[in-house]
Amino acid sequence: MSNLEQTLSIIKPDAVERNLENEIKEMFKNKGFSILKEKKIQIEKSEAEKFYKVHETKPFYSDLCAYLSSGPIVVMVLEKDSAVFENRELMGATNPKDAKEGTIRKKFGISIDKNSVHGSDSIENATIEINFFFKD
Ligand code: UDP
Ligand code: MG
Repeated sequence: MSNLEQTLSIIKPDAVERNLENEIKEMFKNKGFSILKEKKIQIEKSEAEKFYKVHETKPFYSDLCAYLSSGPIVVMVLEKDSAVFENRELMGATNPKDAKEGTIRKKFGISIDKNSVHGSDSIENATIEINFFFKD
């Protein structure tokens, strides 16, 4: 039985700036994800604030939004069976120090804030986040 889902992935500024875009995309493809849509963009801080609105009460919110808008990012729609969960698994823990071997954040993450990738955390948020970046 198939359970095809789509999720939003972002390659964050720290990874784009280190030219890790292709290596990270290879990790997705090797795990069976299809990249349905992708674009490299830089967003305004005000857009980052909308995207991360769920975190607006957190102490790290302002720095997080400044960071996401600090340089080019690659936003992608990934598709696979159980894509939301499978992407979170491949990303690894938010803090790269806690991320398991073989995960993107273990391999490339620098710190809890510069952790190289974003991934939607639920099917509902995946739909919201895909529409945020790819409203046709
Ligand atoms: N973040 C941070 N400091 C923290 C927690 C989170 O800078 O103490 C940043 C980090 O870049 C993380 C993002 O905020 O990826 C969103 O946090 P969330 O808890 O949603 O983690 P994620 O879903 O990205 O694993
Ligand atoms: Mg999150």
